Amino acid sequence: MGVIRQLPPSVVNQIAAGEVVERPSSVVKELLENAIDAGATRVDVSVERGGKDLVRIADNGCGMGPEDLHLAFQPHATSKLADVEDLYRVRTLGFRGEALAAIAEVSRVRCQTRQAGADEGSEIQIEAGIAGPIKRCGIPVGTIMEVRNLFFNVPVRRTFLKSDQTEAGHVTETFWRIALAHPEVHLTFRSGGKVLHDLPPVTGMRDRIAVFFGRELAESLLWVEGELERIHLWGYVAHPSQSRSSTKGQYLFLGGRYVRDRSLGHALGEAYRGLLMVGRNPVAFLHLEIPPEEVDVNVHPTKIEVRFRDPQRIYSHLLSTLRQTFLTSDLHSRL
Ligand code: ADP
Ligand code: MG
Repeated sequence: MGVIRQLPPSVVNQIAAGEVVERPSSVVKELLENAIDAGATRVDVSVERGGKDLVRIADNGCGMGPEDLHLAFQPHATSKLADVEDLYRVRTLGFRGEALAAIAEVSRVRCQTRQAGADEGSEIQIEAGIAGPIKRCGIPVGTIMEVRNLFFNVPVRRTFLKSDQTEAGHVTETFWRIALAHPEVHLTFRSGGKVLHDLPPVTGMRDRIAVFFGRELAESLLWVEGELERIHLWGYVAHPSQSRSSTKGQYLFLGGRYVRDRSLGHALGEAYRGLLMVGRNPVAFLHLEIPPEEVDVNVHPTKIEVRFRDPQRIYSHLLSTLRQTFLTSDLHSRL
C-alpha cells in the first residue's frame, strides 16, 4: 500500500484560502478590487472590530446575474480570463478566480447583487464554503458583500489576528493603497460606525495624498515622468524634508495595482543620496506601466509581488528618471 493520497476538496480549499486571506485587510483588498473591476464609480467600505466581525463593501458596479452568483464563489471561477494567453494581457485587478471562494471558505458571507436592467436583485449566503439557496432581494444596481466572523471555523487562524486597532490599521493601509491608485473612484471608509474618509472622485492622486499624508507633504511633491523603451513611469516624489524613518511612505503601482518591489526602494535611495540624513527614507508615489509581457503578476496569490522579465532595466529606468527630475527641478535650491 502506498502512502500518498489526494487531499479532499475541503482541505485543498482551506489551504488555498490561507494563501489569499491572511487577515481582514486581505478581504478588504479583494472585495475592493472586485468592485473596481466591476466598473464601480462609488464604493463604500465599512468594518467592525478591525474587520474581524464585519467587512462590508457596497459598490455601484455592473452587478451579477442570479445565474452567476453561485459560480462566483467557486474556486477558479472568473469572468476576467478565458485562456492561457489572457494571463499575459490581464488588465483587471483580479483574474485568478480565487478570492471569493477563499473568503467564503473561512467566514460567513452574504452577497446581494443586481445588474442594470434587472427588476430585482439576488442574494446568496455562504457559511464556511456551504452555500444556501439563491433568493431574490431588493437592492440598487451594484453589489453588497458582507463578510462576517472571519476565521470563525479556523480557530487557529483567528488567534493569530491582532487587536482590533492593529487590524483596523492594516485595513486603512489597504484602503489607502487602492484609493491612491484609483482617484477616479468615489470611496468612503467607515470603521466602528465612524466615517474616517469620504473621498470624492478626483483626477490625480495629489488630493488623496494630501488627505492621507497632510497638506505640507502634498505641497512639497515633485512631478516625475519618464518613458523609456515602452516603460512608462509617472507620479510624485516628496521633498527630502518630508522624509520618514520607515519606508512606509513608498508606493509603487503597477498597472493600477500596489506592488512591493525592492527596486523602488533602492532607486529612491540612490536618487536621494546626499539629500537625506542617514536612516531617513524618501516618500514617493509612483506608477509604472510596462508591456504585459514584461512582467509576471501571477507569482503570488495576492499579486503583491511581481516578477519583472528584466528587473535591472526597471531599476535603471527608475533611477535615471528620478535623477533627471532632480536635475531639472529647483529641489536643491529649496533645501
Ligand atoms: P477574480 O476577481 O479573480 O475574477 P473573484 O473570486 O474575486 O475572482 O471573483 C469571481 C467573479 O465574481 C469575478 O470574476 C466577477 O465576475 C464576479 N464578481 C465578484 N465581485 C463582484 C462585484 N463586486 N461586482 C460584479 N461582479 C463581481
Ligand atoms: Mg477578485
